[in-house]
Amino acid sequence: MNADLFPTYRGRMEYFCLGCGKRYPADELYYTCPRCGGVFLLDNLDFAELKKTSGKEWRKIFDARAASKRTALRGVFRFYELMAPVLDEEDVVYLGEGNTPVVESSPALNAATGLRTAYKNDGQNPSASFKDRGMACGFSYLRSLVRKHGWDSILTVCASTGDTSAAAALYASYVGGAITSVVILPQGKVTAAQLAQPLGSGAVVLEVPGVFDDCMKVVEHLADNYRVALLNSKNAWRILGQESYAFELAQWFDWDLRGKCVFVPIGNAGNITAIMAGFLKLLELGVIDTLPRIFGVQSHHADPVYRYYAVDDPAKRQFTPVTVTPSVAQAAMIGNPVSFPRVRHFAEKFEASGGKDAFQVIQVTEQQIMDSMIQANRNGHIACTQGGECLAGAKRALELGLVSPDELCILDSTAHQLKFVDFQNMYFENTFPAEFGVTPDTTLSNRPALVASPEDKARLSPEDFTRTTADAIVKRLGLEKK
Ligand SMILES: *Cc1c(COP(=O)(O)O)cnc(C)c1O
Ligand SMILES: [Zn+2]
Repeated sequence: MNADLFPTYRGRMEYFCLGCGKRYPADELYYTCPRCGGVFLLDNLDFAELKKTSGKEWRKIFDARAASKRTALRGVFRFYELMAPVLDEEDVVYLGEGNTPVVESSPALNAATGLRTAYKNDGQNPSASFKDRGMACGFSYLRSLVRKHGWDSILTVCASTGDTSAAAALYASYVGGAITSVVILPQGKVTAAQLAQPLGSGAVVLEVPGVFDDCMKVVEHLADNYRVALLNSKNAWRILGQESYAFELAQWFDWDLRGKCVFVPIGNAGNITAIMAGFLKLLELGVIDTLPRIFGVQSHHADPVYRYYAVDDPAKRQFTPVTVTPSVAQAAMIGNPVSFPRVRHFAEKFEASGGKDAFQVIQVTEQQIMDSMIQANRNGHIACTQGGECLAGAKRALELGLVSPDELCILDSTAHQLKFVDFQNMYFENTFPAEFGVTPDTTLSNRPALVASPEDKARLSPEDFTRTTADAIVKRLGLEKK
């Protein structure tokens, strides 16, 4: 096995509808089931063929590929056979996504929480969120379609809580050619950085008053009636790409997931779907022999999945969308997650393999999310608000007796801290609008301090200004002369 050759294996992919079970060939872009409107998963009919290679052999292959110099194998397609093994090397789009680090928490943070935690920093993806994983796969597939059909123009459209559009616009701007990107955002409900990203990539940016769920309805109407390629997470190719998070996590821990708990924020529920799907594939191939435990986390301001699983008796569970209220975990502020049927599908399989506590959903408050994000970042992490939500979830799980300090809690910082500094600023400046219900711990407030006046700058000679400024700093810090 030469780790530097692009794989020759090809699967036979089909969409299958979680609503009515109907199957469709994967050589066309379907978004939802034309028959019943249900969501799809993509299924490789020749997956069983992969079982002819032992788990040990697969581990060797993936480990060898980790050193590949071949661009198409450097990102999420290191795990080509498990994701979308219908693409050719020339279709693979690589912008440096995937292979994000797992950073163990400092002893001080672990002592403060009573937990053992680590962050997988998915904010270290090219557009600074995990959405790049799915887009790399989605755009690679789209590129294969453009090539095969000879299309001369295709419009990609997505609704977004900010990061999907940043990722879609970035990948579209790289692929270019026939592809034009349009993103639809809830006006005023994405951060300044998230708005700047698609603008910078040259996408057409359209704003709609309301929240994400309002944008989603508009986009679905467009998809149902016009020729556009939808890139929301109903697009099953994105789910495939996001499975790479699970593959990487397993590889990071040398394929041993015993005693690991994986915390994932749930918004539209695509990410947690993909992560469960990925681990199940590894288990089926014998690449891992134990599933980690999965904990979904939701804010009390947007918690439909939590509410569903809070009912203990599966026969009595009923899914009801909720009306969201403002959440600092803005990227997960979704009341009617489109991937909910997928979560149910994989959660069942997870529980069947790993037992009743293999999949759980935790609810946290806005206050806990903010306090946890600030705490994580004051201890060397680069967590976004959703990353704070994961730490809050782990703390809550400990409180509920669902995890023990012997286990390692792996927290998903789904985006980079910098995308969500607006919330950090509100915390430090104590300017949260009342509806968030966040009261900052003002002892943690951190503001810049001006140590010399502009008048001094204008009045003094450069040498005097330097000395006056230095003196002011000496006084402020109480420095002693050496
Ligand atoms: C999209 C997003 C989420 C929510 O993920 P889903 O797949 O919609 O559940 C969480 N955090 C960040 C930063 C995101 O961009
Ligand atoms: Zn259907």
